[in-house]
Amino acid sequence: MYDVIIIGGGPAGLTAGLYAARGGLRTLICEEKVFGGQILMSYEVDNYPGFPKGISGMDLMDNFIKQAEKFGVEMNYEGVKSIEDEGKTKYVVLSNDTKLSTKTIIIAAGASPNKLNCPGEKKFTGKGVSYCATCDGAFFRGRPVAVVGGGDSALEEALYLANLASKVYVIHRRDQLRAVKVLQDRAFANKKLEFIFNHVVKEIQGDKFVNGVLIENTQTGELSRLEVEGVFIYIGMTPNTKFVEDLIKLDEDGYIIVNDRMETNIPGIFAAGDIRVTPLRQVLTAASDGAIAASCAQKYIEMNF
Ligand code: NAP
Repeated sequence: MYDVIIIGGGPAGLTAGLYAARGGLRTLICEEKVFGGQILMSYEVDNYPGFPKGISGMDLMDNFIKQAEKFGVEMNYEGVKSIEDEGKTKYVVLSNDTKLSTKTIIIAAGASPNKLNCPGEKKFTGKGVSYCATCDGAFFRGRPVAVVGGGDSALEEALYLANLASKVYVIHRRDQLRAVKVLQDRAFANKKLEFIFNHVVKEIQGDKFVNGVLIENTQTGELSRLEVEGVFIYIGMTPNTKFVEDLIKLDEDGYIIVNDRMETNIPGIFAAGDIRVTPLRQVLTAASDGAIAASCAQKYIEMNF
């Protein structure tokens, strides 16, 4: 039996793994895609403390992985189909139907930003296309950028980018924003923001990096091009909680509700990082969550076994 099985190998899962294994717990991390998580998409991370010259998302996560491995974390590349709670013993069912038993589980499977699925989006991710203005906005100081979406996230991040970029186009598919009024008022008052309503992005264009977007007027079908060097996509996020929705308490948007010890509604099952209800989704906050979850899982084991 494992002491802790961590689901997800991003910053939260890898940090939880490091803390758990360093604390002497038999620890497994299951990651179905690639260890490192969403931050791998960031060309450079310059707000993770300790790296004053900045570091690429890939290099940062490589360090996270090496540090977790150093303390003996086991890692596998299996997705998780479901988890089962039988009191003291819990089970993690892998996509290959292997059933593993464990004393505790830390769910750190993250959230995925919704994609536009237009030509150029994948090609230029990390090269002008971003899903995180806080992570990547500073690279666009003095340059024109576009934000796609009309919700709270799009407007909050457009306002953040207005402090850095020379111009921020907000491209929205309707003529009414979804964002709350207070944000709309602030956004309309900001001279750097230009709203392009009733338009959708047909293609993200560029050479090595983004140099423009092709947009279509949804009323007339007319195509036009905006010269921008960054495209920030905020069309909603989907937390990766489908596989636990019958067991774990979620909020109305599907994020896991935890207390300040990262405990879910089920004793011995914790959640950390982007998958939980939280006001900030960053590598730093995910790592912090992972450390708390692992340390509280260890205390849970000491009290119950
Ligand atoms: P959201 O509210 O779901 O808004 C997504 C936006 O993207 C909508 O304007 C939607 O257009 C647009 N959109 C969706 N799919 C699209 C597509 N394929 N192409 C073009 N546009 C598309 O998402 P969110 O802004 O990330 O917010 C998620 C939740 O977090 C919300 O409940 C929000 O209130 C909350 N939030 C709160 C705060 C805060 O309180 N400070 C900050 C951020 C987010 P339509 O409007 O036409 O559907």
